[in-house]
Amino acid sequence: MTTLTREQFAELDRQDPLAGFRDRFDLPQGHIYLNGNSLGVLPKAAKERAREVVENEWGQGLIRSWNSADWINIPRRVGDKIAGLVGAAPGEVVVADSTSVNLFKLAAAAVKLRPGRGKLLSEPGNFPTDLYILQGLEAFLDGKVCLETAPRDEILAAIDEDTALVVLTHVHYKSGAMFDMAAITARAHEVGALVLWDLSHSTGAVPVALNQAGADFAIGCGYKYLNGGPGAPGFLFVAQRHQAQLQQPLSGWFGHANAFAMRDDYEPAPGIERTLCGTTPVVGASLLEVGVDIMASADMALIREKSLQMGELFIALVEQRLGGYGFGIASSKDPAVRGSQVSLTHEQGFAIMQALIARNIIGDFRAPEILRFGFTPLYVRYVDLWDCVEALVEIMANGEWDRSEFRKLTAVT
Ligand SMILES: *Cc1c(COP(=O)(O)O)cnc(C)c1O
Repeated sequence: MTTLTREQFAELDRQDPLAGFRDRFDLPQGHIYLNGNSLGVLPKAAKERAREVVENEWGQGLIRSWNSADWINIPRRVGDKIAGLVGAAPGEVVVADSTSVNLFKLAAAAVKLRPGRGKLLSEPGNFPTDLYILQGLEAFLDGKVCLETAPRDEILAAIDEDTALVVLTHVHYKSGAMFDMAAITARAHEVGALVLWDLSHSTGAVPVALNQAGADFAIGCGYKYLNGGPGAPGFLFVAQRHQAQLQQPLSGWFGHANAFAMRDDYEPAPGIERTLCGTTPVVGASLLEVGVDIMASADMALIREKSLQMGELFIALVEQRLGGYGFGIASSKDPAVRGSQVSLTHEQGFAIMQALIARNIIGDFRAPEILRFGFTPLYVRYVDLWDCVEALVEIMANGEWDRSEFRKLTAVT
């Protein structure tokens, strides 16, 4: 590749069909935000919506708002909108709980659907909560199912007749590596196993076609690429064909066929609502809806195209300008198997990231040595990538990373 210039990046911004979306977000002045894969940014409309929900719906409407502001239907209403982003049908997705809790509910339900099978399969190095929740389920069921892990290139071979459920994160949180959802799902179905996809780093970041892939279950996160706000509720997907038999363990009143009949005996709702447990976090879910609406108004093909181009250019810049400083590239160079982030490795990764953040260029660090840069095409510009690498060049060249203040560990990296 010929030597890149900042002007080329500025020209790409001028031609960018998604450029108009940036103005819908409230980015702090002078910041470059490459961490939307961890916590998305604030949509301007979310501020208005927060005021409306708190002052009017809660403040004035009080309990009447369960009906008058349609709070009661939020899980399904926002779920249907998310369904459109992940290739699911209306009635297959609800917003509820956290991603971790949704995993527990669905993994437990899946095990029930495959009695006699003893294996839960995942990959080593999956997102910690995914492994922890499966370990918790294993302990809870007294070893009736055992968690096994197989490296990603051995997953297909590890799916066998004893496998009840395969749980994988579609786009890996650290490396950004992406599984072939259709191929793995097809292999699982061949031997009668089920598959649960964690879409935390996929929804709003890459095209997802759950029903086309024949997926059984999925879960995902509201506060990453969907820009739902810190601690926004997660979502879950159950394919229509599994819903009538689905028995999930957290059988709370919101999952009841007729919650307000107040009967003693639990009777699951007929459809996807049976996956609900308790009262919807109304404020959080209302703000999530704002982020989902923005995402739904953008063309995913354009998002993917820009995200891939950003990945290519970022890798090219790192290779051209940061050679000799000890960086490695942990993400695949093959765009077909890369999500919307590029991860670098460096022995001094933590301190380097702190030095970058001190310049208001925000990515994150994942132990032991990964620097993650997330690309969120709706609000990140091409010149931001240039400026980020330029800052890295300076930080390395002048030894800025080596200051003591950049070595202090923070509670959250
Ligand atoms: C972010 C993330 C989660 C988050 O789970 P919470 O219950 O919201 O804390 C789960 N799984 C993956 C793969 C993630 O990236």
